Amino acid sequence: MSHEQQPESVVIVGAGVAGWRAARDLRGAGYGGTVTVIGDEAPYDRPPLSKQYLSGEYDDARISLYRGEEPASLDVTVREARAALVRPGEVALDDGETVAADAIIVATGSAARRPAMLDGHDIFTLRTREDARALRAALAEAGSLLVLGGGFIGAEVAATARTAGLAVTVVELQPTLLGGALGVECGRRIERVHREHGVELVTGVGVERLEARDGDAIVVLADGRELSADVAVAGFGAELNLEVFAGTGIDVTAGVQCDEFGRVEGLPGIWAAGDIAAWHDPVLGEPVRREHWQVAGEQASIVARTIAGGPIAKRNPPYFWSDQFDLKVQVFGRPELADREEWVSGEDVEPQSVRGHYCGEHLVAVTTFGIPRLLGQWRPQVIESLAAATAS
Ligand SMILES: Cc1cc2nc3c(=O)[nH]c(=O)nc-3n(C[C@H](O)[C@H](O)[C@H](O)COP(=O)(O)OP(=O)(O)OC[C@H]3O[C@@H](n4cnc5c(N)ncnc54)[C@H](O)[C@@H]3O)c2cc1C
Repeated sequence: MSHEQQPESVVIVGAGVAGWRAARDLRGAGYGGTVTVIGDEAPYDRPPLSKQYLSGEYDDARISLYRGEEPASLDVTVREARAALVRPGEVALDDGETVAADAIIVATGSAARRPAMLDGHDIFTLRTREDARALRAALAEAGSLLVLGGGFIGAEVAATARTAGLAVTVVELQPTLLGGALGVECGRRIERVHREHGVELVTGVGVERLEARDGDAIVVLADGRELSADVAVAGFGAELNLEVFAGTGIDVTAGVQCDEFGRVEGLPGIWAAGDIAAWHDPVLGEPVRREHWQVAGEQASIVARTIAGGPIAKRNPPYFWSDQFDLKVQVFGRPELADREEWVSGEDVEPQSVRGHYCGEHLVAVTTFGIPRLLGQWRPQVIESLAAATAS
């Protein structure tokens, strides 16, 4: 597409990392039309909410997504508003106003899942900056924390609270922390760090129900055990914010189905990026959705460049990270393509270790545990090997 064919106006719905990156990269790619961002919050970064923002190390300014004089320097209009509906050519706001747009980018992200069993109980969840502020204030007054769900957010909150000196217990249904996301071996590697720091882990057992006794929430486990603490937080995963697609006729039960540039199937002129977006994966031949910060930003960048008619930067393999105590966990590549895995560097008992994920002889991903630059040593090999694996 040449710049003469650029749409005259772009409206971005959702001002998270995908939404804001799309705005910045539209201008970066030479897009000259009007850009409006409609978001129900100011743009900020979510990963620190369970880490440095929760601990108090980072303040609001540090987690803002605005760089320098943004948004003014980008000539982007930011409207703090909630979109009710998108359809080709327009976005309807929940106050009844309609905003016309030649191209629409939807990046509405997710909300914390809050199962009905939590109703009526004083149990925190963590998705927004407001959630993090409230949890931080509660932890400051507390001596103990109960974490329900040992996924990334649960494990990170546990590490942050334990570092602050609280007694912490984590309950996880799977046999290990993070077993679902990283596999049992890597889950055990992370568990060891938690145990070394004194976190109590209750794994392989689910939460049966919650009871309120004398104003306290008592968590009853499936094996009959009862747990309680000064503060409880649930990390039960996320639910996608897909309300704006209601009535469009497209099926969003598995996320918003898109081609490999983010065009939403069945809705001309509408694009999706970030947590909500299931982009066609040419290797698997099916849509894939990922809930990772770096993927959200890259997808937004690809959408922005496609709309602006600029060149698409080379696509990087997926990447995500997690920080727990002094351990940085990084996953680079495509572990979902692997048929076996093994420790390739360091025994799993050493402070820095690398788990290799193989498809046949090809190293299609690594999970590194230790200092951040450890991944740098493995990146080129994974990129090369992944290219060979997916070409064949
Ligand atoms: C506590 C926490 C820690 C995390 N840590 C990591 C990490 O260490 N590493 C990693 O890779 N990933 C991490 N993630 C995941 C990562 O933050 C997400 O993948 C990323 O934020 C997704 O970006 P997004 O722009 O798609 O959505 P979001 O960040 O959810 O942003 C969407 C925005 O759209 C707004 N919105 C929704 N509906 C509407 C509407 N109708 N109208 C207007 N605005 C709307 C939302 O309020 C929100 O502001 C973490 C997530 C959380 C919650």
